[in-house]
Amino acid sequence: MKLPIHLENTIDMLRHLPGIGPRSAERLAYHLIRMPKEDVILLSENLVHLTTKIKLCSKCFNITDSEECSICADETRNKGFIMVVEEPLDVVALEKAGVFTGVYFVLGGVIDPIRGIHEEELRISDLMVLLRSLHEKESVEVILATNPSTEGETTALYLKQKITQDQGCSNISITRIARGLPTGADVEYADPLTLKRALEGRGQY
Ligand SMILES: [Zn+2]
Repeated sequence: MKLPIHLENTIDMLRHLPGIGPRSAERLAYHLIRMPKEDVILLSENLVHLTTKIKLCSKCFNITDSEECSICADETRNKGFIMVVEEPLDVVALEKAGVFTGVYFVLGGVIDPIRGIHEEELRISDLMVLLRSLHEKESVEVILATNPSTEGETTALYLKQKITQDQGCSNISITRIARGLPTGADVEYADPLTLKRALEGRGQY
């Protein structure tokens, strides 16, 4: 059966989204047809705004609709306490936890030579410019919060060396987020690497 062209195009576009297979794309498209017209129009307008209005924060490269994101613009956030993360979604997760009072820096990925991602593809030089601009502050802490994957560890190690060797960053202390067992995890089922890291990251109790 030949589908109406706009329906077919919508299914085709939805299939490009992560986690959406052909069957889910069809279901979503048919659901959109049944939705109230004004809701679908609102959705399409917001999708257009995603490409025209959303940009990256000039300071931390988080997603924003103004020059600076709301976190960088917040006077109460500690600008000498910088958490380096891989992606904007990491910022969302950390902000939901509501435990961090500093600011972020979004690297835009991790060093991954197998996938052809090298240092220069990430925002490492922008990070160095930011850190050097803080040289008048008495103390600055950079928390390396890349994921505990091989690539995340490689990137954290690279950043540590880069910052340590930079003469303009002598006031900066570097920390790494602790790795270990997630809440609700069972020691019995944890893999050896997770257990090793949980032991290494143990704290006074
Ligand atoms: Zn920002």
